[in-house]
Amino acid sequence: MNLVIFGAPGCGKGTQSERLIDRFGFYHISTGELLRDHIARKTELGIIAEKYISQGHLIPDELMLSIIDVLLDSPEVKDRSIIFDGFPRTVNQAEELEKLLVKRGNKVDAVIGLEVPDEELVERLIKRGQDSGRADDNIDTIKERLDVYHNQTQPLKKFYQERGSYRTINGSQSIDKIAEDIAQLVATI
Ligand code: AMP
Repeated sequence: MNLVIFGAPGCGKGTQSERLIDRFGFYHISTGELLRDHIARKTELGIIAEKYISQGHLIPDELMLSIIDVLLDSPEVKDRSIIFDGFPRTVNQAEELEKLLVKRGNKVDAVIGLEVPDEELVERLIKRGQDSGRADDNIDTIKERLDVYHNQTQPLKKFYQERGSYRTINGSQSIDKIAEDIAQLVATI
């Protein structure tokens, strides 16, 4: 089973992915974490990615898609159920992901949309910046990332609704309640 955990920055995608991994044993593909790891290791990709991430912009689709293409064939990912977290983030990425999965006899089975109002997201991200020191969790970059989300990523909701795979979860509830709602939903897929 392949799931996409979907929503704005700060909606709880990472936290809920961890819960799903503990409960169901998915392989977790978090493109944000993957890129931050490259930045920390100062790889060629990390150096390119840092320029986009620090401004709150998306890294180019071709770059992101080539990383996913390679990752899907790696021994630790092959034949596993996957949670995609932070990917796809544009309609083009979603269309290309569909092709990458079809090529491997697979598909996206469900998209779990964690819906949280913007004001709450800003509060959460500012707090996360203070606690974790994540460089892009500062007020200017947060505003840019939310704009990017609304302009480039939110259209994916309609894309997946049209395919009948979008499921809404109220992301303003407690972490445990959200995890429970998601687990119930996953059980029906
Ligand atoms: P995240 O940890 O998912 O909030 O991602 C942090 C940053 O990494 C984003 O603001 C983007 O700059 C970059 N990034 C993560 N995933 C993607 C993606 N699928 N496409 C383009 N850029 C991405």
